[in-house]
Amino acid sequence: MNRSEKQKLLWQNPEYRKHMSDAHKGNVFPYMSLLGKSHKGKKQSEETKRKISDAKKGKNWNWKGGYTKRFNDLKEIIRRCFEYRQWRSDVFHRDGFICQNCGNNKGGNLETHHIKSLYDIIRQYDIKNLENAIKCEELWDINNGLTLCNKCHLKVTFSNKT
Ligand SMILES: [Zn+2]
Repeated sequence: MNRSEKQKLLWQNPEYRKHMSDAHKGNVFPYMSLLGKSHKGKKQSEETKRKISDAKKGKNWNWKGGYTKRFNDLKEIIRRCFEYRQWRSDVFHRDGFICQNCGNNKGGNLETHHIKSLYDIIRQYDIKNLENAIKCEELWDINNGLTLCNKCHLKVTFSNKT
């Protein structure tokens, strides 16, 4: 079956027509780009099915949504690795375990702030996995880290979100 025959069949399906009209309103990812993938074997077609089902549920899995999820997963992986704990400890030691904003030195409430955000670094260097991350020098530069107490960290994080 060629592409235009497939399309014809699809248009006979009222659900598809409704979906396309939703897609045109910009609500969901356009269905059409999924069609070409369905013949590529089981894995691809399961993936496609899942995407279609997400789209039907109205989940907005556009590029940005997909990227945010991947970013959060990657951030978790980075945070759990040895290099990250080492970086964090180096930043704390350099700053003498004192919040660099308010001078709080009680300890136990200290966090490391990324001056250039993890998000920006991951995006700039196109980091896709832990291996990429470990090779990225800027990610492990302690000059990009700052010791802050949790209250100041929250303030800084919040004020950056404009
Ligand atoms: Zn503080």
